[in-house]
Amino acid sequence: MPELRFENVKKNYGDKQALCGVSFTLNEGIYGLLGPNGAGKSTLLNILTGNLPATEGRILLDGEDVAKLGRRFRAKLGYMPQQQTLYPGFTCERFLYYIASLRGMSKARTKERVGELLHLLALEDVRKKPTRALSGGMKQRLLLAQAMLDDPDILVLDEPTAGLDPRQRIVVRNLIASVALHKIVLLSTHVVPDVEYIARELVLIGDGEVVCQDTPQNLCQGMEGQVWDVEIPETGLDQMGQYGLVSSLRRSGSGVAVRLIADAPPPYPSRNVEPTLEDVYLHTFGDEGGL
Ligand code: ADP
Ligand code: MG
Repeated sequence: MPELRFENVKKNYGDKQALCGVSFTLNEGIYGLLGPNGAGKSTLLNILTGNLPATEGRILLDGEDVAKLGRRFRAKLGYMPQQQTLYPGFTCERFLYYIASLRGMSKARTKERVGELLHLLALEDVRKKPTRALSGGMKQRLLLAQAMLDDPDILVLDEPTAGLDPRQRIVVRNLIASVALHKIVLLSTHVVPDVEYIARELVLIGDGEVVCQDTPQNLCQGMEGQVWDVEIPETGLDQMGQYGLVSSLRRSGSGVAVRLIADAPPPYPSRNVEPTLEDVYLHTFGDEGGL
């Protein structure tokens, strides 16, 4: 099994410390790099893919430094950056052929893969359109197509579902899940449902530090007994903040049902409910970053 290991990776932008010594290890499967905006996700992925030098630390693939592997590492890598960088004058198809030629793919294989991916990502109708004429969601899917083109062993996706509508999110999520066999997939997001069901493990990152790495099930189990469904009169809403973190609200009869994250129940009718990953996210990052 392949192993990708981050060892004490640090990154400073001037005197801003964006990564404060990040260490974790990935094997085969889908890993969600989950954290709020500004957590350092893109910085970490840019270091992994060789687009940005680390200030300190290293990344090892099966014990070898990826910086030293250079081309041999990049040949195994598919990368979808967060910034939509497409050649505006190229058509979708030409863009994919261009990427394939950079990767040294054969003509026959290129033709087959381009056809396949345009189909899977519902881009067949716009294959002859210049990339500048595409909608945000189409650009996003084209970027995903180029990352998957050479069927890479390591697939790095930076916020792959940004700008997609709910249906496209599902298509993209299923596509990622379906290609992940025998690969290392590292997918960054701040959107919990993106990784809730497809990720084998989540790496929670906040403020340049890895907070924890575990399976979604274990993360949820770790919060058992701390999530409450609380029935309150509408007038009690303002005080809820003093008892814990409000995860969600819904109208219930004459009052409000509050989903509350707290060590102890508040002085209202409360019952323990099953924690979700959304609760874990709020509990972990609730005090960080605001909106
Ligand atoms: P994320 O992808 O999790 O939203 P980023 O890696 O983009 O986070 O950013 C991490 C932190 O580093 C943020 O505080 C961001 O403002 C800062 N940062 C990112 N890129 C630069 C840069 N080129 N120069 C200075 N600060 C940067
Ligand atoms: Mg980012």
